[in-house]
Amino acid sequence: MWFRRDLRSHDNVALSAALRCGLKVHCVFIFDRLILAPLPANDMRLPFLHAALQELRATLQAAGGELIVRHGDPQQEIPALAAQLNCDAVYANRDYEPYARQRDAAISEHLAANLCRLQLYKDTVIFEQDQLLTGQGKPYTVFTPYMKRWRQGFHPALCHDTSTSLSNALAKPEFDCPLPSLAELGFAHASPAGLRLQTGRSGALNLLDDFSRRISHYKTQRDYPAVKGVSYLSAHLRFGTLSVREVMRTTLAANNEGAECWLNELIWREFYQQLLWHFPHVATESFKAEYRSLPFPNNETWFTAWCEGRTGYPLVDAAMRQLNHSGYMHNRLRMVAASFLVKDLLIDWRWGERYFASKLLDFDLAANNGGWQWAASTGCDAQPYFRIFNPVTQSEKFDARGQFIRRYVPELAQLDDKAIHAPWQAKSLPPSFQLGRDYPAPIVDHATQREAALALFAR
Ligand code: FAD
Repeated sequence: MWFRRDLRSHDNVALSAALRCGLKVHCVFIFDRLILAPLPANDMRLPFLHAALQELRATLQAAGGELIVRHGDPQQEIPALAAQLNCDAVYANRDYEPYARQRDAAISEHLAANLCRLQLYKDTVIFEQDQLLTGQGKPYTVFTPYMKRWRQGFHPALCHDTSTSLSNALAKPEFDCPLPSLAELGFAHASPAGLRLQTGRSGALNLLDDFSRRISHYKTQRDYPAVKGVSYLSAHLRFGTLSVREVMRTTLAANNEGAECWLNELIWREFYQQLLWHFPHVATESFKAEYRSLPFPNNETWFTAWCEGRTGYPLVDAAMRQLNHSGYMHNRLRMVAASFLVKDLLIDWRWGERYFASKLLDFDLAANNGGWQWAASTGCDAQPYFRIFNPVTQSEKFDARGQFIRRYVPELAQLDDKAIHAPWQAKSLPPSFQLGRDYPAPIVDHATQREAALALFAR
């Protein structure tokens, strides 16, 4: 059993299938050198991943098994281990990203040459690949009809618990299997500071339990970043410390307006997964051909200011500082910050996508790319290009009392609830506060940039 984005022994489709095959099962995880090499030493995902592996390993050991952990190229490590352990099959759950597809195809070929099979299973989504197609047999490119079809095709049996007993079925290799430390892997032992996100399977279950008590308020609270209204489960769904089926079971059990609304977000997740599967070109270029050569001026100084949370637009800056500090950004703020980068700073959405990808604990190619192309109006079913978020009115609406801004931009804490959204427009500011000295003046004028963005897209 090769674990990838499914770091749990509970309700894991490939693991359960392997356990049922009647032979002893070896469990493996590979730290992929190709993925890790370009990451900075303080990347916050590594401590999160490491903690999840520690728990998984302890669970497997308690059941008489082991987790074999390697650091290398999976295309070499997996066939070599399969040969060394004399395996007749490698079980894994399907990953829909272009790199994973190419890697798995190469490994499958390599294994077949040694009479070993790569068995892939659907685990991370409820519907995959061609399971949901339009009446014309085409992939969906608009969310609402996809969502309706998803709901029509859904049946509670699709999220039943697939778990199988681990005892007596796990193999223990004859060699030692230490879990390399973060330092050995070349990473610092930093913890995801700001969010204090609970890690591992136990952390995932705590968060799910906590959210299940709040889920009925999800619809009314999810848009306010200062409020604990969302689930904070994205990194756990990304690394598979929770199964999507157990999350669905919680949603079904709640059966209220909040759960109904939350289900839609889980369907958005699957919408973008199937989009990436059917249209892998979105990973590198606009979904819509007509937006592939937008002449973005790409001002590098503005880009740096955006990355560092120094644009002079308080809500955008608070959002970027939340990301830099914690590896998380609230969904409303992801939309505001992304729109600001593309439509106010006129910077290529792929620069922002890359920056988010380098910082988000929950980074997922399909969701991140989908979110960016939505905000940039270049994707399928995206925001029309002429609908441009106003960062000040978004701030007044979704952080009316400036609580979120005060948390992440403390230099604005003394401003009143009105001035905090746009200090440069304030009739009066505290005498000790000087715009331009204590906090940047806005680097661009929204009204001017809005016109420039409309002209750029119209052209
Ligand atoms: P909740 O509101 O509790 O949602 C529950 C789950 O539904 C999430 O954990 C996530 O798995 C899924 N989900 C929710 N909204 C979306 C959405 N719009 N698209 C796809 N799935 C969704 N989500 C990621 O998981 N990884 C990313 O890299 C990512 N990048 C994004 C970039 C941009 C520009 C935008 C606009 C959105 C992005 N999202 C991404 C979607 C969304 O912002 C996050 O999933 C959400 O903020 C995570 O917090 P949560 O778990 O508390 O969300």
